[in-house]
Order: sequence, then structure tokens, then C-alpha cells
Amino acid sequence: MARSTTPAPAKTGLLPSKTQRYHFDIYAILEGTQELYFGEDVAVNVNLVETVKVPRTLPPRQETREGNAQQMPPATTLEKCYISPTKRRGVERRILIWAPTVNGVLLGDQYECGIPQTCAKQDCPICCAFGALQPEQDISFVGRLTHGGGVAIQPLLPEVKQRARHPSVMSRQEGVDPMPYKREYNEPALLYPVYNHCLSMTEPEFTSVAYAFLNALSRLGAGNPKGVRLAEGQLLAEEEPLLVLDRYLAPLGKRPVLSPQETDPNTALQHFREATFFVFGKREEQEIIEHRIGEHPVFTRWVGNRAMQELQRYSLEFTEHVLLHVEEGR
Ligand SMILES: [Zn+2]
Repeated sequence: MARSTTPAPAKTGLLPSKTQRYHFDIYAILEGTQELYFGEDVAVNVNLVETVKVPRTLPPRQETREGNAQQMPPATTLEKCYISPTKRRGVERRILIWAPTVNGVLLGDQYECGIPQTCAKQDCPICCAFGALQPEQDISFVGRLTHGGGVAIQPLLPEVKQRARHPSVMSRQEGVDPMPYKREYNEPALLYPVYNHCLSMTEPEFTSVAYAFLNALSRLGAGNPKGVRLAEGQLLAEEEPLLVLDRYLAPLGKRPVLSPQETDPNTALQHFREATFFVFGKREEQEIIEHRIGEHPVFTRWVGNRAMQELQRYSLEFTEHVLLHVEEGR
């Protein structure tokens, strides 16, 4: 079908772009570097973390003494710790709102864009990825960044810790005893497979997603302590970050998405690795796997260290063109 030179008015609400749009996917395995708290609920003075129940449909394997795998009867459900995708999304969005600009103001203040008061401007680097709703001006546009995964691999339940007292009663009033409280924590070294997906974005639009993803690693968690790292393992070299970045028009790669039923870190790494290097029906062990139709790259996958470098390159572009960009009248 011939492409029209004057684009028709957009029905999607998205302005036409002069540059090629792509889909982007980030696949990663995160590791808690210490205890993590992402609050869910409070039960009798215990602050609970969010967990999920995973129904087991696959029978778990158990090695016999002779080294043979033995089929075990299926357990009914597993309870696992969880970094909910919506909470990760919230942290990433705040990273952008709080990003420092060259003007000395935060990016959110520069664009008058916050939570829940989004600015809904088409050129806003936050709203263009996360979407916006501006009821007064009757503007809404759909977010093109979605988050997935987050179910821990190891089935280790949260630990309850006694904390000294609630901050709200730190200033001791006469006749009022400080209130001790307990808090659950996700244990350190839990592994969380996570995924970010972007729908029809230009490369400049994707730069804010890359910047937010990398910056959020040290800031995931509610309260203190915070932070995860990219788990490492053998991909092409030893100790590479378990990270894959796809930019594509046609989804040709096997997706390195892990089953929430998986409980063994070694098997999880093996599945992640196998999917990473399986593109368009064959194994290709390369740091960049690319397919083209004529001149057009229709699928590009960056793996491990190379994926990290590519995300950093996008992140640097965001810093240069958004954070260090001075615009008249803003
Ligand atoms: Zn905005």
C-alpha cells in the first residue's frame, strides 16, 4: 500500500512523527540487594508486603540421589514475594518528575506535570510514555509504556521485623508511650524477572523510558532501605547483566519471560538464556541480533553488557536533549 504524503488526522490522538516509530521491550532479572518493603496492607500492627499466590499446574522436579529427575505430585499453590509492576511504574514516573534540569527546576515543575495532575502536553517527555488525563481540557491520551513481571523466583516468604516506633509518634508526648510496630520485608537476594514494553514510540520518546528504568534500580522500594541491582549470570560472557533490549516492528525473538511457577534460580537463568538467543527460529549467540527487510531493521536485540550500554546511550540522549535543553518561554 502506498504511503500518503499528507497524513490523515490522527484518530488515536497521537500526532504523526517525522521519524520511524518502533516497539521496544526491556527484559531483566533484578536482585534485591537488601531487604525490600513495598507495602500492601496493615494487619494487627504489622505492615505487610505484597505477595502473590501462584497456582501450580506443573509438577515440581526433584533430583533423586542417583541424579535422575523424579516427578513429584503437584503442590496446589505457592506464595511468593512480589514487586508489583504498578509500584515499579510509580517509581519510574517519579524519577522523571524529579529529574533535575539545567534550569535548576525539576522536570515535572518545568512541564507542570505531576501525579495525579498530569500536564497532557504532546511534547511532555513524561506524559508521552506514561499517558495523561486532563479532565478540565477534556484531553486524555493512552500510556504507551506498560510494566510486567515481578513475581520472585525463590518461594521465600517475607520476614517480620520489629521496628522501634512509628515515625508519627517519634516526638514523644507526655503520657503517650511510643508505639512499637512490626514490618514485613522481602528477603535480600530474591530474584525478580521484570519487563517493560513500549508501544509505537520514536527513539527520542524511548529515551525517557531508558532513563527512568536505569535510575529506578537504586530507588525501588517504599521507605528505607531501597534498591535492587541487575542480577548477573552467564550469557555470552560470565557475570553479564541479565538484560535484553528489543527494538522491533516484527516480534521475531523468543521472549525471555519466566514462568512465575519457576522456583530454581539456575533453571530460571537457563530459560532466560535460551530465549534470549532464540530469534526467528534459530539460535544466534551474538551481542546484537538483527533482522532487516531491505534497508529497514525490523528486529534488533541487544544482549547483556551490550543491552546495558544501549540503554545508557538512550539515557544519555535524554539527559542531553531534555534535561540539559533550555527552551525559551519555559
Ligand atoms: Zn506531562
